[in-house]
Amino acid sequence: MDNQSLCENCRKRLGKLFTFYYGKQLSEQSFPNLNNLNETTTIKTYRIGGKQQVVVCRVCIARNIIMTIVLSLVLAAILGGVGYFVLSAAPKISSNELASIVRGVGAIILLCGLAPLGLMIMAFSEPGENTAINLRSHSLRQMGYDAFWTTKDYQRLESRQLAK
Ligand SMILES: [Zn+2]
Repeated sequence: MDNQSLCENCRKRLGKLFTFYYGKQLSEQSFPNLNNLNETTTIKTYRIGGKQQVVVCRVCIARNIIMTIVLSLVLAAILGGVGYFVLSAAPKISSNELASIVRGVGAIILLCGLAPLGLMIMAFSEPGENTAINLRSHSLRQMGYDAFWTTKDYQRLESRQLAK
């Protein structure tokens, strides 16, 4: 059975084989949306590098989920704290213009604090594939690749390409 190989991360337990795809973003273009001119459609072009298969065990997958949760919460807490600090400084500023700029910056930082929570959702949705990506992404980044997809995301990407 091909799913009886040793986990590539801990090399202690048997794991399952997970597949992910990688590539490089070539360009990012924004076009005005013809139905609503206030909106833009962004088209990103990728060069597909290939796919990799990694054997990962359940313990390492669980560990990866916990690490992602801790990291996401720490990041969210830092951004939330900084955002709150900036927002609370705004009323003390005498210039109205400057105060509204500070308020805007604070709101943006607070919103950025929500982004790490998306990482958490990703870690839960396809935990095996995401652990495989985390194990290999460092060496692939050194080779110049900056985009990684789980099998499900990759299939979505392919169907979108065919849709036009
Ligand atoms: Zn393992």
